Amino acid sequence: MTNHKLSIWYHPIYTNGIHPDARFPRVRYIKLVDKLNTPEYFGQFIIKQPTEASRNELIIAHDPYYVDNFLNQNLTQKEIKRIGLTPWTPQIIPRTLLLMGGAIAALDHVMEYGGIAGNMAGGTHHAHYDFGSGYCIFNDLAVCSLLALSKYNLTKVAVIDFDVHQGDGTATILQNVDEVLTISVHCQQNFPFRKSKSDYDLELPAGAGDEEILTMVATALDITKQFDPELILFQAGVDGLATDSLGKLNISRQGMSKRNEMVFDLAIEQMIPTVVFMGGGYSNPISHTIDAFGDLFLSASRANNQILSKANLETIDSKIE
Ligand SMILES: [Zn+2]
Repeated sequence: MTNHKLSIWYHPIYTNGIHPDARFPRVRYIKLVDKLNTPEYFGQFIIKQPTEASRNELIIAHDPYYVDNFLNQNLTQKEIKRIGLTPWTPQIIPRTLLLMGGAIAALDHVMEYGGIAGNMAGGTHHAHYDFGSGYCIFNDLAVCSLLALSKYNLTKVAVIDFDVHQGDGTATILQNVDEVLTISVHCQQNFPFRKSKSDYDLELPAGAGDEEILTMVATALDITKQFDPELILFQAGVDGLATDSLGKLNISRQGMSKRNEMVFDLAIEQMIPTVVFMGGGYSNPISHTIDAFGDLFLSASRANNQILSKANLETIDSKIE
């Protein structure tokens, strides 16, 4: 059987574009890529360099005035503070454009070849139409959703957001877009404290553990299956881990892995192209976050292999008939 490697987009600027003094754990990207190059993971992935997203791609989901102010370094201190990742360096601009480009490249890949692809960053679900917040400048989930409609003529896209924080920016940008289903499973007592309205918000109380969370995940996936999407955009934040410093939930590493496999099982069963966006993860020590993201991409790689092998078999079957 052919080994279909998982395509993942990554650029060193994902780490280096953030100032070393920023509170954000910027090392998580470089540490993850190092992990994926160790023997246990090696050979499962093709790591590709993104190109910068264009202004036209960004304004599909964002106010051109906000986009231009960011690109021209004209955001106010207040706007920058709301985003975080401070102190900013000029590198924040190419970093943001490459990160968005990585998501778009992963989308283009699954639209062309089917299966699963991922960006080793992003899941920037707190970015709104005309402002950023919570480490998010532009919303890759919203941009990819709207590109999927305009560029690929899809009519049913599902955004499944399992990060511990609500996908508030995604919900507001896409609230009047019937072609995109937004589902957010998140901790009720966590940022953002003023929640937006997704199509489905499934809220967990602080302290919830594996069983409670996986039940909620199953509900979210039932809703997704009913919707019968042509594309899944999966925000796979691992900040629900018990070890996370921001999460307030109590998921084990195994529970997190099970959650991801439930998503991928649906993708395999229904042969739905799926893009993985990393999302949050702030464990202390950060190694727990890196382990969980390593598990995520390994599960994604196995699932991608299954989907593409199944697709090959179906092609062969149809030729025999
Ligand atoms: Zn988060």
